Amino acid sequence: MNFCPQCGAPVTSKIPEADDRLRFVCNSCATIHYQNPIMVVGTIPETGDRILLCRRAIEPAMDKWTLPAGYLENGETLQQGAARETLEEAGYQIDDLMPYAITNIVRINQVYIMFRCALAERTGAPGSESLEVKLFRPDEIPWQEIAFRSIHDVLRLYCADREKGSFPVHLLDIG
Ligand SMILES: [Zn+2]
Repeated sequence: MNFCPQCGAPVTSKIPEADDRLRFVCNSCATIHYQNPIMVVGTIPETGDRILLCRRAIEPAMDKWTLPAGYLENGETLQQGAARETLEEAGYQIDDLMPYAITNIVRINQVYIMFRCALAERTGAPGSESLEVKLFRPDEIPWQEIAFRSIHDVLRLYCADREKGSFPVHLLDIG
């Protein structure tokens, strides 16, 4: 951050009184601009023995496969955000959301929260962020072409849990 979103004056990075972290503080109005991790919500949409993946139409990782996921918006619950992202990226409604994996990615200040869910009706085409949407059995997942480490790790856990027939909630850390 270079300029204050409140008043437009330059900001300085410093540790405010009674704080212990560097913050951007406005040189003019003294507003402290706190920055906090971003929440990413997404789904593993299931139908029969297959799950849905989207092939990315945008960078980063264009052309690679991923699960529907994106930034949680203000005013949304986690479940609403996950359902919205699935509709936007895949064109499908979903039902029966179940929390499945929480992944801390401290290096980039993100937390991923992924839900298992049932794929319901298709109500549109894949959005502009997806080139195509396809259903895969676990043994068909293109492991070399998965977009992000966070998605790859969740998919690996999911496939292992499917073999065991139980889906506990997982807490993961990615460095
Ligand atoms: Zn200011």
